[in-house]
Amino acid sequence: MGPKVGIVRCERYDDVPDALPGLLELIGARLPEDRTVLVKPNALTAIRPEKNVTTHPALVAAVCRLLKAKGNRVVVGESSGMMAGGGTRRAMEASGIWQAAIGAGAEPIAFEGQPLVVKRTKGTILGEIALPRILFEADLVVNLPKLKTHMLTRYTGAIKNLYGCIPGGKKGDLHGLAPGPLEFSTVIVDLFQAMPKQLVIMDAVQGMEGAGPATGQTKHVGRLLVSADAPALDLVAARMIGFRDDEVPTNALLKQRGLMREPEVLGDATPIVFKRPSWLPNRIPRWATTVTRPFMRFAAKRPYIHENCTLCDACRKICPAGVISEGKRRMRIDHQGCILCYCCVEVCPYGAINLARTRFTADLTHRALKKRGAKNAQDTP
Ligand code: SF4
Ligand code: SF4
Repeated sequence: MGPKVGIVRCERYDDVPDALPGLLELIGARLPEDRTVLVKPNALTAIRPEKNVTTHPALVAAVCRLLKAKGNRVVVGESSGMMAGGGTRRAMEASGIWQAAIGAGAEPIAFEGQPLVVKRTKGTILGEIALPRILFEADLVVNLPKLKTHMLTRYTGAIKNLYGCIPGGKKGDLHGLAPGPLEFSTVIVDLFQAMPKQLVIMDAVQGMEGAGPATGQTKHVGRLLVSADAPALDLVAARMIGFRDDEVPTNALLKQRGLMREPEVLGDATPIVFKRPSWLPNRIPRWATTVTRPFMRFAAKRPYIHENCTLCDACRKICPAGVISEGKRRMRIDHQGCILCYCCVEVCPYGAINLARTRFTADLTHRALKKRGAKNAQDTP
């Protein structure tokens, strides 16, 4: 019998507290009592919860309340994409996660500045990595990913959410070390192998399709997923939104390493097909997934910065290639040195960066989005 993945319907965030106990019961999950629990949401950048980039605060609050009711010490920790200068706290506040944690009696923390412990991985790219000590001191880690597509890794869920356990600028350095989708996915799986086991509860009430993880569109799914096996949950969630198993590099790598078993699905996994991230054709032949940099440079879209840039500096700080500099009214990107990691697009809290093959098409798309009111300065914190 494979690992259990439970799924319940939950149409609105107001219904999360009622749905949660039944969800945990589906897989027979037992919460600890009088222990320390580390909750890891996704607070990618400083953006309001209704944009559906981050784990919804209603789920964070409901999980923390359940854990607190059992006498646990609950710590909610994250290192966001905009980690410099207190950026993680800003991201947790803008997304409502910080306040949700406090309201539920938990302790929100930014992983930056926390004591670290160096862990050796069994990985092929990542030899060792410094991670917050609290991850390993906690009696349980509860991973709260958001169901989204991803421009680089195609899908982001439980395994990818662990990338936010790496404190500070190391995240950007690793993007630079492993810029292609396959290389970067290898780093994520390497990291997963160094992590403690987790209980995963996925926010799939509202997901994000298209140009995820930050600039896609909201997609209503109306479900919560749970599993004590992160790879199994990712496999079920990725299938549910229309990916073949070999299309998601992290899932394919987990299978290759013998870390993915066929799950037992308990609940409604009826497919709700998401629009694909558009930087490569939807159906990539197997051979092409191993062709990285030269192919990407030819086929991939590049980041372009628009007039609603506020010069907040978040993209410059995270750019692993150091190719973003301050211009007169907006940031500038030196596309020659750009490694197409898309970190800048992910962290921009103002939706001022989009991806396109030319400046002209970038401007057209940006204008169209602005017209629809999908992303503009008023939408941001
Ligand atoms: S593009 Fe402008 S607004 Fe967006 S992260 Fe960069 S500096 Fe900030
Ligand atoms: S400009 Fe953006 S996509 Fe290019 S290397 Fe820098 S962060 Fe990555």
